[in-house]
Amino acid sequence: MTQTSVRENLLRIQERIAEAANRAGRGAEEITLIGVSKTQPASAIREAYEAGVRHFGENRVQEWEGKRAGTDGLAAKWHLIGHLQSNKTARAARLFHSIDSVDDFAIAQRLDRTLAEAGITGKLRALIEVRVAPEETKSGVEIGELPKLAESFGDLPRLELAGLMCIPPFLEKTEQVRPYFKRLRELRDELEKKLGLRLAVLSMGMSHDFEVAIEEGAIEVRVGTALFGTRDIK
Ligand SMILES: *Cc1c(COP(=O)(O)O)cnc(C)c1O
Repeated sequence: MTQTSVRENLLRIQERIAEAANRAGRGAEEITLIGVSKTQPASAIREAYEAGVRHFGENRVQEWEGKRAGTDGLAAKWHLIGHLQSNKTARAARLFHSIDSVDDFAIAQRLDRTLAEAGITGKLRALIEVRVAPEETKSGVEIGELPKLAESFGDLPRLELAGLMCIPPFLEKTEQVRPYFKRLRELRDELEKKLGLRLAVLSMGMSHDFEVAIEEGAIEVRVGTALFGTRDIK
């Protein structure tokens, strides 16, 4: 099998983003592609950067610490998209531009405190990960706990709550995933009304379902395999 290049893959993804946006009456420029580079070497990240990708998602703090030197000088934004353990929180606060997977107040508080202690004045962007399929996934805040967690960001001046993220179950037929994406958008809309906050970002959709996510309002899509090729299972 011939490997297609990251550049070719990116062109195809951009077409698919544009088509999905078009179907939903949206502009393709409203949607940010996050290249999910977990398990990929720094060289692959550089290749994607050269092709035009400007946002990258990693799911493990330690893995990112090991390979970030290889991406020195790239003016990209780095997102943590995986579950954050409390003993990694302080490092994560310094290494990423955005923590897209906050699901617990203690973690958010620790991030805020780390930034305060480091004397960092800018705000760190954060998304709340919502458990839209409690029967299938472990990470993410329960829907019933979401309003309380979102409200608590009001006490954390160094974090900017920008929106919500979800990882729906993997279902072969992408149409079956649609209700989960729709649910996240509705939860966001309810939360905006309830708290009087603007929560612009919906991070949802991966390689096999990002088009449906865009039709349901995704602002950021997290695409790994379709961009970089299949991951080696370690
Ligand atoms: C791995 C991962 C992705 C990307 O998955 P693909 O199916 O390879 O596109 C997106 N989001 C999260 C949170 C991930 O862990």
